[in-house]
Amino acid sequence: MKAAVLRAVNQPMAIEEVTLDDPGPGQLLVKTAASGVCHSDLHFIEGLWPSPLPVVLGHEAAGVVEQVGPGVTHAGPGDHVVLLFVPFCGSCRYCNTGRPYLCGRGRTGGQTLHIGEQAVAPFASISSFAEYMMVPEGGVVKIKKEVPLDKAALVGCGVMTGVGAAINTAKVQPGASCAVIGAGGVGLNVIQGCALAGAERIIAIDIHANKLEMAREFGATHVIDASNEDAVAKVQELTNGGADYAFEVIGLPEAITQAFDMVRRGGEAIVVGMAPIGSEVTISAPAFMAEKVLRGCVYGSSRPRYDMPRLLDLYMAGKLKLDELVSRTYPLEGINEAFAAMKNGEVARSVIVF
Ligand SMILES: [Zn+2]
Ligand SMILES: [Zn+2]
Repeated sequence: MKAAVLRAVNQPMAIEEVTLDDPGPGQLLVKTAASGVCHSDLHFIEGLWPSPLPVVLGHEAAGVVEQVGPGVTHAGPGDHVVLLFVPFCGSCRYCNTGRPYLCGRGRTGGQTLHIGEQAVAPFASISSFAEYMMVPEGGVVKIKKEVPLDKAALVGCGVMTGVGAAINTAKVQPGASCAVIGAGGVGLNVIQGCALAGAERIIAIDIHANKLEMAREFGATHVIDASNEDAVAKVQELTNGGADYAFEVIGLPEAITQAFDMVRRGGEAIVVGMAPIGSEVTISAPAFMAEKVLRGCVYGSSRPRYDMPRLLDLYMAGKLKLDELVSRTYPLEGINEAFAAMKNGEVARSVIVF
């Protein structure tokens, strides 16, 4: 099968012939229908997060089950599935306390992907920039067949991460004020999550005018162009002293500090962005005397087999925007072009369609 292979950081990926083993116990072979192009993949391309090389990236995907290994019960051949980049084991303390997104034991599967002579583990248990994927059963969510797979793929990372940050992690309350730093693919979903939760004021902050325009479409009531305005002062002004919630959705230490500074006494800053390995954040220690909270967030605190079908039902009911997120689609051969467009801030989301 064909896959986009990254052999060195900061180099273009090449379309190469690679192979997968047959599914072993607890594994599924899934034919890739679509894979979103996510900013987190770029961190690995640029070496900000380490990965063994060569690697087939891609972690926001949906497809059709082709074959299952012994013991698999959740889905069978022909079923439509969304893939999880944090597969869950179902039996650890996190899985049993409603926090499967923190499970570290679901990544079984071993080295099933052969790139040239080398056997490697699938990236994020998925490796979706390939025609087929080998995934563990705990990394699969069965979905209704009427949901278009190119839209379902987005729920596998960006939509779940963003909407989940608002409704699961922060538990935004009706009437709340929210500030969202970064209106890219995930930030737009934080914005629509805040809108779904009934926030009264949603302030989008970015430095790209095209993204601020999209932010309004996704539910922002106010926008701040941080290239020519002081975002912290402006949020404080618009919210009478500070937002109830501020979301950092870029992955920049300075922006995390800003998010913390723009919430009111007792308010909460939620870090959604993926900051580079080794980076550190400076925040005001006395601010804790005002009961301010700085909270981490991963995968939208999702319970995937509950949350993902629920989000897709909202989409089918016309209450969650997915079509509007997709700026461009590319064939697998267009992968390097898709990453270049994302890096230039031209797109909300690009999707590789197989
Ligand atoms: Zn992602
Ligand atoms: Zn677990």
